[in-house]
Order: sequence, then C-alpha cells, then structure tokens
Amino acid sequence: MHENLFARTEGLFDVEAFAESRVLIAGCGSGGGQVALQLVMSGVKHFTLIDNDMMKSENVIRHVCGLRFVGRRKVDALEDVLKDRNPDISVLKVKEDLLLWNGLESEVQRSHIVVLATDNDPTRYQMNELCVRTETPFVVGKVFTRGIGGEVFGYRPGESGCLACLEGVLERTKFRDGVREIDLASEEDREKMYGLSPQEIKDSPGLAVDIGFITLFHVRYAMDALARLAPQRPAFLPAISENYVVWGNRPIHPFSKSFELQRITLHRQEDCLVCGGANE
Ligand SMILES: [Zn+2]
Repeated sequence: MHENLFARTEGLFDVEAFAESRVLIAGCGSGGGQVALQLVMSGVKHFTLIDNDMMKSENVIRHVCGLRFVGRRKVDALEDVLKDRNPDISVLKVKEDLLLWNGLESEVQRSHIVVLATDNDPTRYQMNELCVRTETPFVVGKVFTRGIGGEVFGYRPGESGCLACLEGVLERTKFRDGVREIDLASEEDREKMYGLSPQEIKDSPGLAVDIGFITLFHVRYAMDALARLAPQRPAFLPAISENYVVWGNRPIHPFSKSFELQRITLHRQEDCLVCGGANE
C-alpha cells in the first residue's frame, strides 16, 4: 500500500538491505530520535525504543517530535513520528530506566545492533559491558559541551576495542586535551572555564544543527554496523574503516578550525577490564 515510499532512493540504494534488521534505540532524546528517523528513511523496519522520559516543552527545539507531543512519553511520541515516515515498521516500546530494566539483556541479544544515545556515562558503560558479553555491535554518539563538537564510536565484536578501551587510547589522540577539559574536568574547573554553573553546562549542549553533525555520523556508523552483518554488503555503502571519529563544529579548543575531523581505528586493549585478554 505504500509501494512508492522509497521510489526516490531505490535506484541508488537497496532499501531491502536492512528490512530484516532489528535496531535497539537506547535513549530517545534528540540524538536517538534523529538516528531512528534516519534509519527508517534508510529502510530499517524493526525497532526497540527504550526511554522512560516524557516529552517536555524544552525538548522540542532539538527533537524530531514537536510541541504536539509535549506531555507524552518519548517512546510513544517517537513511534508516532517514525510511523508517519513509514507506517509499515514495527516498534517495541520499553518505558523503563535502562539501568533497572531486567529484560535488557535478552532484548540486546535479539537485536542486530544497539544505537546508544543516552546522555550519561553509567548507562553507556553498562551497555558497553552487556554488548561485549553478548557480542552485539553498538554505536554510541556523544556531543561535547556547548556543541563545539562530538564523537562517535562503533564497537565491532571480535574486531575492535570497546568503550572502556577507548579511554586509554584517547591519551594518544590530538584532541585529548580538549576531551579531558570538557568531560573529565572537575565541576569547579568547568565553572572557571566557561563561566557557567555545572548545571547550565550540562543543560546547554548546543544547537540542533551542532548536534546534527554528530547525529549523522552516528547514523552512518549504525548503517555500517548493519551492513557488516549482511551476507553481502549493500551497494553504495563502502565499509567505514575507522571505528571512532571526533568532529569539531567550531574553532574552539581543542579544535582549531570549523569542521575538523579526526579518525581513529581503535583496537582491543589487552589490559581492558571489560574486553581485554585477561578475561579469556
Ligand atoms: Zn575494551
């Protein structure tokens, strides 16, 4: 009944390539919502959405869901928006806290990939451990303070390091100073650095357009993770060789110009407490 939906892309891209893929979206905020919508537009049809938040008016200006969704659960609002783009998709909604939901492991296991789009490290690291244990690929995106840039990492089971490995490798990247400054500095230091209270910093991670650059890398990494599982890689989707990118939106330290990119291939670190050789 909706046979013309993909008429403008099917000459370029095999939209059936991802039709059987199941994608778990962990966190349905501005990042997770955008990634999910882009994946629908790329032919993904099976989603699990996990989030226990409500849409509030202050979310609207950066979210795929507008004012008419305020007061509804983010998973319900996002389902509505995704099905408006393709009514033939299936959506499983989980209105639970990621850290507390006891169905998480089995849901991760039956998903092909996890899109990790929560806004805090405890959920990122729990999901990292779970995905390493179940050998499930995941892609994670993070926007740096005030939207000056961000990073996207893809975990490739049996091939790459994990999120915990990345911490060690960051020591050797040219943006390490900036990443430490932004994310690892004490609250007192951050206050001095930006003249903002820690709460203001936490709540001001940039304009939608700045988040958008990171989000689109995140989408591309998700598509690459799905393509790696396909019996044959879809045409027009060459493999992304590096599994970690850092993107700078603006010439603010650690970035020196607008639209600056660093690519890294993260290998498994033998001494990693999550995925290292010591665990085998
Ligand atoms: Zn690791």
